[in-house]
Amino acid sequence: MKGVVYLGDSQVEVRDFPEPEPGPGQVLIQSKVAGLCGSDLHKYHSSRTWANERNGMISGHEPTGIVAAVGPNVDHPCVGDRVCVYHRLGCGHCMDCRSGNAAFCDEGSGSGAFGRTQDGSHADYMLTEARYCLPLPDALSFTVATQLACTAGTAFSALRKIPTHVGDTLVVFGLGPVGLSGLLLGIGMGYRGIGVDTHPYRVDLARKVGKGQVINAQNDDPVDAIRDLTGGTGVGGVLECSGNAIARKQAATVASRGATVVYVGGGSAPDLTVDFADVLTKDLTVRGNSVFSMASYFAAVEFLLKKPVALNQIVTHRFKIAEAVEAFSLFDTGQTGKVVFEWDE
Ligand SMILES: [Zn+2]
Ligand SMILES: [Zn+2]
Repeated sequence: MKGVVYLGDSQVEVRDFPEPEPGPGQVLIQSKVAGLCGSDLHKYHSSRTWANERNGMISGHEPTGIVAAVGPNVDHPCVGDRVCVYHRLGCGHCMDCRSGNAAFCDEGSGSGAFGRTQDGSHADYMLTEARYCLPLPDALSFTVATQLACTAGTAFSALRKIPTHVGDTLVVFGLGPVGLSGLLLGIGMGYRGIGVDTHPYRVDLARKVGKGQVINAQNDDPVDAIRDLTGGTGVGGVLECSGNAIARKQAATVASRGATVVYVGGGSAPDLTVDFADVLTKDLTVRGNSVFSMASYFAAVEFLLKKPVALNQIVTHRFKIAEAVEAFSLFDTGQTGKVVFEWDE
């Protein structure tokens, strides 16, 4: 089978690998759609030393596909099942793992991830422990599922932290694959949506696929624009997905009294600087969100079955695995929405 390997210094290579065989408790997934993610670009930009230390590890952490084989002692899933695979890996027995929060496990083999600490989803087949397989109903496409495995899954988890007030306004700062899916999901939940970004490609894509208003913060001050759009009251919910220090501050400024602001974007600035008067006098709830729990995945699936949201429109470029060099170099230009590898149905 083919798999993608980081070489360091913004290079990847497609290599041939033997098809893996599932051991006890393991499942072999035949890949269907596997996204590229902003965090894959950090690894893509890593040094040759970092890449060499990975020792030929396969990239990718947004796995979806069909169960091709199961090892001994696996009752679920079954061969032929459609699955989305939880991408963070834990010990399997601590409280975080047992409650579906393997992302927060820090015991033993914890804090691992596909495509970072072990072979990932940018390959024709991927091996996983059965416990990371999440059922994917027929009604949801693999293109949606690869987003639920990471970007849209994270956005949905963040949105769940905002008490729903249908008809309220939601602002999303940063319209990459996390923020744009958050904007579309939020509109699907009944919010009036406003998106903010500075990157022309992202602004244009959001205007094309979103039904909400999109502010280009290069041209317009988002604080003024949002004040105008909300008749001076501000907004009930904010997702800050850009990680930009200015946007972090503005996120609290545009919030209305009693609003919830959820910080999602990591970014490079280590500090969160907001105007404390915004937090105190407006009685704000300030939350953070790091990835998502398995329970949140089930809630996202349930929501999308009732309320289809066109997350597939966030995907702008599709590649075969053999085209990985081109896929990574195009994604690295920033002139894309979500980029995915796909296999024939
Ligand atoms: Zn991701
Ligand atoms: Zn654990």
